Amino acid sequence: MNERAENRLETVQSLDELNSLLIDCRLCPRLVIWREEVARVRRRAYRDQVYWGRPIPGFGDPHARLLIFGLAPAAHGGNRTGRVFTGDSSGNFLYAALHRAGFANQPIATDVNDGLQLQDAYIAATCRCAPPDNKPTREEMDTCRPYFLRELQLLHNLEGIVALGKIAFDNILLGLRQLGRPAVPSPAELRFGHNRWYDLGPGRPWLLASYHPSQQNTQTGRLTVDMFDEVWQQARQRL
Ligand code: SF4
Repeated sequence: MNERAENRLETVQSLDELNSLLIDCRLCPRLVIWREEVARVRRRAYRDQVYWGRPIPGFGDPHARLLIFGLAPAAHGGNRTGRVFTGDSSGNFLYAALHRAGFANQPIATDVNDGLQLQDAYIAATCRCAPPDNKPTREEMDTCRPYFLRELQLLHNLEGIVALGKIAFDNILLGLRQLGRPAVPSPAELRFGHNRWYDLGPGRPWLLASYHPSQQNTQTGRLTVDMFDEVWQQARQRL
């Protein structure tokens, strides 16, 4: 992120303001081209829909104690609907679990007008624009990180973070270290593992790791419904 953009971010005083700034971001040329191309061409099943095709803002309860941190929006999920984890299989798996754990008022997420509300939880991502092959580059994640850092500062009741996948896990640690907290371990020092919990020290949110609810994990049995529920039960108990 360039200095001008960072300066603008520092003046932001609320999550709504932050999201207004975020949705106009064009700092990553490759991602801007991709997200807009996907929105223009569209998938056959969604050909009658207008895709969002922009960065995806954070979503949820601004007073949340729990932050849920994913990787990046899906090309035909969040990039289509304009809301994180909405309109794709990962989101279906995630919101059903959040509903069972009492963090969501309904198990379904189809579009921004579906009535979904989160209770005591807020969702954000490492990279806010859909990347080709679901793989943002390191540079793109670094460029996008200041949005997450400002979110952390604006979530005043934050107690804990659930990281969905190792990339999200590593980026949380990198972000917390960047916030002037040198005692936070580096990604090389903390082992990622499903349902592993870490206390990051006084004044910092704890960190709970989970496998990402992608189809690659949920359809192969690497992540089952019971395994995912255990994460949210642990998060609930830790709050
Ligand atoms: Fe901006 Fe983040 Fe999208 Fe890059 S990934 S264009 S920094 S919103």
